[in-house]
Amino acid sequence: MINRKVIMAIADGLGDRPHTMLGNKTPLEYARTPNLDDLASEGITGMMDLIAPGIPVGTDMGHLILFGYEPQHYPGRGPIEALGIGMEVKPGDIVLRCNFATVDEAGIVVDRRAGRIREKTNEIAKSINGMELEDGVVAYLEPATEHRAVLILRGDGLSDQVSDSDPKAPNDGKPYHHIEPKDASKEAQKTAYLLNVFLKKAHEILSSHPVNVERITAGKLPANFILTRGAGRMVDIEPIAEKLNINVSCIAGESTVLGVAKLAGYKTFTDSSMTGNIDTNIELKAKLAIEEIANNDIVYVHMKAPDVKGHDNKPLEKTKSIELFDQMVGMIREKLPDNVYLALAADHSTPCEVGEHTGEPVPVLIAGPSIRKDRVSQYNEMDCAYGGMGRLTGSDFVRTLHDLLGFVKKQGN
Ligand SMILES: [Zn+2]
Repeated sequence: MINRKVIMAIADGLGDRPHTMLGNKTPLEYARTPNLDDLASEGITGMMDLIAPGIPVGTDMGHLILFGYEPQHYPGRGPIEALGIGMEVKPGDIVLRCNFATVDEAGIVVDRRAGRIREKTNEIAKSINGMELEDGVVAYLEPATEHRAVLILRGDGLSDQVSDSDPKAPNDGKPYHHIEPKDASKEAQKTAYLLNVFLKKAHEILSSHPVNVERITAGKLPANFILTRGAGRMVDIEPIAEKLNINVSCIAGESTVLGVAKLAGYKTFTDSSMTGNIDTNIELKAKLAIEEIANNDIVYVHMKAPDVKGHDNKPLEKTKSIELFDQMVGMIREKLPDNVYLALAADHSTPCEVGEHTGEPVPVLIAGPSIRKDRVSQYNEMDCAYGGMGRLTGSDFVRTLHDLLGFVKKQGN
């Protein structure tokens, strides 16, 4: 068998629409991208709908598909967040996204983010992590970025069909919500009851926690409450790496992407210099991608900045972030071994004029050994529409790569 490998470079939210500020070009058309265009000349291109035309997807869903799952395997945002911050998640766990918040004696939410607390959330979380509730159910709480945290309930007979305690923005000044079951099942009733017990106990412990006493003395809001939302149940999902018996690495700065990679059984690499913005460390990402491909079948390398600039309605800055992506791809290309395909993809479109994800397709590309190249010589939304891969789904694209590596079983005899 021929030993072939893939490095896939993903530009988050890359797809866009022609913009008047860019002479009616898309940021990708407008940007100076010599490396991406050379790859287009050498390779095969196409347009990819992650799920189907016109369906917008989130970064979590987009990467789930790019990492080899079908959309129906989506485990919910909570489990992905938990994995992203390095928490262990087991099948059957109920996972909730949380905020450290400030409430007063009457249960009124003074601040949903506890004064945007950033320091010592680790110590605060530790004081309630591992709390034993009733019936053998244990609560695990770990801090995420800034005022965010993740709560896991582990035990028998639990359900994710429970409401949120978080009154959500802009509802500071309103009481937190009592958690209610969303269906009539015993499991939902038990889970809602246990969560309410947890909230009360946590509030008692946090109210006198030394970090909060210190904060009050310093005139800051105490993190004396845990607001919960988005309960999800961790599904029993087979890691792609095990299913295909392959080794895969993922290099990224964003915890959502890292969480999905962990779900898939991929090794993850991150560093504080991979910022998720325009100042991210592209040299380190490119260096790691080349190092990792030596011992792996597939390496994913992710850049967040284009999505951020799309959300911010900043076409010129999005152009800059794409030029940075081009430079990163150029560094990888320079040291690319002969047996490695270089694939370009995005998880969704984030048009600057919209500031949100849309369902428009994104350009994709594969360059490398013995590829059937097409006549497209520019990597962008308009030219790749004429590419040899045509219009394909995210799963089609990933399968095409897996087939090039010899991972796809022959049908029939
Ligand atoms: Zn986004």
